[in-house]
Amino acid sequence: MKELYDLGELPPTGAVPAKMHASVIRRERFGAPVQAFQGEVVDVPAVGRGQALIYVMAAGINYNNVWAALGKPVDVIAARRRKGEAEDFHIGGSECSGIVWAVGDGVHNVAVGDHVVVSGGVWDEGARDIRLGADPMTSASNRAWGYETNFGSFAQFTVVNDYQCVPKPERLSWAQAAAYVLSGATAYRQLTGWHPNVVRPGDPVLIWGGSGGLGSMAIQITRALGGTPIAVASSKERAEYCLGLGAQGVIDRNDYTHWGRLPDIDDADASGRWLQEVRRFGSAFWEHLGERRAPRIVFEHVGQDTIPTSVYLCDNAGMVVLCGGTTGYHGDVDLRFLWMRQKRLQGSHGFNLRQCHELSRLIANGDVDPCLSHTGDFADIGKLHQLMHDNLHPCGNMAVRINAPGDDE
Ligand code: NAP
Repeated sequence: MKELYDLGELPPTGAVPAKMHASVIRRERFGAPVQAFQGEVVDVPAVGRGQALIYVMAAGINYNNVWAALGKPVDVIAARRRKGEAEDFHIGGSECSGIVWAVGDGVHNVAVGDHVVVSGGVWDEGARDIRLGADPMTSASNRAWGYETNFGSFAQFTVVNDYQCVPKPERLSWAQAAAYVLSGATAYRQLTGWHPNVVRPGDPVLIWGGSGGLGSMAIQITRALGGTPIAVASSKERAEYCLGLGAQGVIDRNDYTHWGRLPDIDDADASGRWLQEVRRFGSAFWEHLGERRAPRIVFEHVGQDTIPTSVYLCDNAGMVVLCGGTTGYHGDVDLRFLWMRQKRLQGSHGFNLRQCHELSRLIANGDVDPCLSHTGDFADIGKLHQLMHDNLHPCGNMAVRINAPGDDE
């Protein structure tokens, strides 16, 4: 057996080389993602109890490793070093498809040779809060694998907990299978996880960034559950993409000017202008919906620029459900609308195993498409994160081939 194999070169089944190729972020390279990720050769991580070593075929590109590359809002390398981890680098990647290559003691639900999709939520199954019945995603032990933890999927091999593995839907290519879980299952939790504010047949749902990773999944899941998705996008091409996925209508956010933080409450002129714009936006929502109903769920991840609009537009007793803040973290809320109309502003993060498996079933059945729009190579990892950072990436989800052959589509 060789010490190091080329990308795509298959080691003898079950044989684990000492070294592997990985796309690595280092603190001295923090900044533009295109520079921050560089190919290096590192040690293959060891497999512990309850874990599996995965020969990575393809990996999904997600926004969290844009943040990792920038080194903000969290320096993930420094955070782990403070907790005693030795590595002074970060191997990102929070989802992938691959082949189970080795398993540790106590692993029963996957075996060497299985084709799997790897999901990105990790936690301590023995944690006190989980043992007392908490959803693992709310556990203090919860981490985003390949973002808060090291040795993610941007490498030839990765070590995962056995529960992260989901059977790979057979109809998908390696790249398609690599790119749907993180955005799809996160969207699924947002739309189904917060009773009683779950999508019901006929519910109008407003979906920001409808052509993005989360948004493309949210449109399809809303449709699959019988809701009516109205998306927001910033170009004609993106709007067409949303319509193709099942959006009933698309609002072009470039037609409005009221984004960002709310004007000062004592500034009557500015507040009046804001109200006029947000009402104009609300009228566009009604127009696309074909009736004067407010969104029962607003699907949020944009944050500072859009939260005031989301909270204002949301239906009485409806929910704004948020899993990120791409444009900033100070989302202004006019509390009057929140309490008088009894609206809910709900944080949502990742997904639990049930949500992951349910979403995977929708994908396997063909009810939701993985929306893979671009597949790059290992060397493109930095470039694709840069496109995402600059909001110039193609619609839907992106993946890179790690060990998968060039004709995997
Ligand atoms: P994405 O593919 O880049 O999609 C985000 C979309 O947001 C873009 O397509 C863009 O669409 C829209 N957008 C950008 N700037 C905007 C603005 N100023 N106003 C309104 N819309 C804007 O990213 P993603 O993968 O969907 O992730 C989105 C966010 O969610 C990221 O911050 C990510 O970190 C977070 N996230 C969190 C979790 C979690 O579990 N907590 C999971 C996944 C993602 P248009 O320009 O066409 O409007």
